[in-house]
Amino acid sequence: MAKIEMKTPLVEMDGDEMTRILWKMIKDELLLPFIDLKTEYYDLGLEYRNETNDQVTIDSAEATKKYGVAVKCATITPNAARMTEYNLKEMWKSPNGTIRAALDGTVFRAPIQVKGIEPCVKNWEKPITLARHAYGDVYKNTEIKVPGAGKAELVFTGADGKEIRQTIQEFDGPGIIQGIHNTDKSITSFAKACFNYALDTKQDLWFATKDTISKIYDHNFKDIFQDIYDKEYKEKFEEAGIEYFYTLIDDAVARVMKAKGGFIWACKNYDGDVMSDMVSSACGSLAMMTSVLVSPSGVYEYEAAHGTVQRHYYKHLKGEETSTNSVATIFAWTGALRKRGEMDTIPELMEFADKLEKATLSTIESGKMTKDLALITSMKDVTVLNSENFIKAVRESLEALL
Ligand code: NAP
Ligand code: MG
Repeated sequence: MAKIEMKTPLVEMDGDEMTRILWKMIKDELLLPFIDLKTEYYDLGLEYRNETNDQVTIDSAEATKKYGVAVKCATITPNAARMTEYNLKEMWKSPNGTIRAALDGTVFRAPIQVKGIEPCVKNWEKPITLARHAYGDVYKNTEIKVPGAGKAELVFTGADGKEIRQTIQEFDGPGIIQGIHNTDKSITSFAKACFNYALDTKQDLWFATKDTISKIYDHNFKDIFQDIYDKEYKEKFEEAGIEYFYTLIDDAVARVMKAKGGFIWACKNYDGDVMSDMVSSACGSLAMMTSVLVSPSGVYEYEAAHGTVQRHYYKHLKGEETSTNSVATIFAWTGALRKRGEMDTIPELMEFADKLEKATLSTIESGKMTKDLALITSMKDVTVLNSENFIKAVRESLEALL
């Protein structure tokens, strides 16, 4: 069989530890035999990040802007322990943070649903994709512990020197104060990324805040979304047969619990932090969660939502067998290949991505899976495979489909 040809390279960001091992296995077993794979390779493994003073991360983000599609392996975000483990020159920043800042992107996360691993919420037939605004609010706050009686004020001094001043509270004893902010620019980028991704995936978009209580702050989010929708997206949504739906956050939570799924749920920063963990844990396993960073200009970076699975890597280094789930990393590749195929009009590449996903799911549905899934499946008599044999089983299913 002839290999599928590509036109534009994918930006390939390699990573660390166990996921780096899976990365190579996936390429060798599931991609290279079938695709004439064109990638521009960036090694985001911690050693090379340290060697290049993290320049490689910046270069990979720039390449993503240039080519439009990237696929990323999980990477270590250094902490004190990693400083000694890898003898680092500096505690380099999280590559995901650097890439997200460079692309001004929004992260969309969705569970991979498969028969045998049912969500705790029985009516969730289709995945719920969560979009979290990743800038500001309580994550960039200023806080004061009020020592005793006194007056707290909110003051804004304009570049022209003009002042806006409001009383927050006249304290008659100790308490606390918090200042938070957001910018129209960041909210606009978030809104556009959400509308684009909804069109892209042909799913309804839900957005919710607490604008009845926060009449200026949260209301501003609601107004910006509505304004952009009316001006730039209303017609496109109608053509695509999808809907933009705004409601209050508590109403959204109640509706989500009763919904069938199959929509995008856009959340403010804090809501997204909380709700994404709720959705993912209800769907079983972090190893079954995909993640894609979408910029407002339509650039895509695909990855798995989990980390480098350090504990398994240490076992692997000791020569022990591991049963690490590669599904989310496989889906990062299929997401990127499908998007590349769509942008370059290569239908065979898009079909291949569909088939590889189908092969992965049907392998699990046939009872062959890694240990993390075997622990939570409703299926009886399953076969637990090690990291390598699971990927080989997927290859068998894939070859049967091709
Ligand atoms: P982790 O790699 O997500 O793993 C935490 C635990 O979850 C594992 O020990 C394992 O549980 C389970 N798990 C996660 N993915 C799995 C998979 N594919 N298959 C089977 N089990 C899986 O988180 P971590 O150990 O806290 O972090 C390790 C490193 O990853 C850190 O250096 C962190 O900075 C980095 N990280 C990177 C990203 C990213 O690049 N996007 C995201 C998060 C964390 P058991 O051990 O019980 O089997
Ligand atoms: Mg969290």
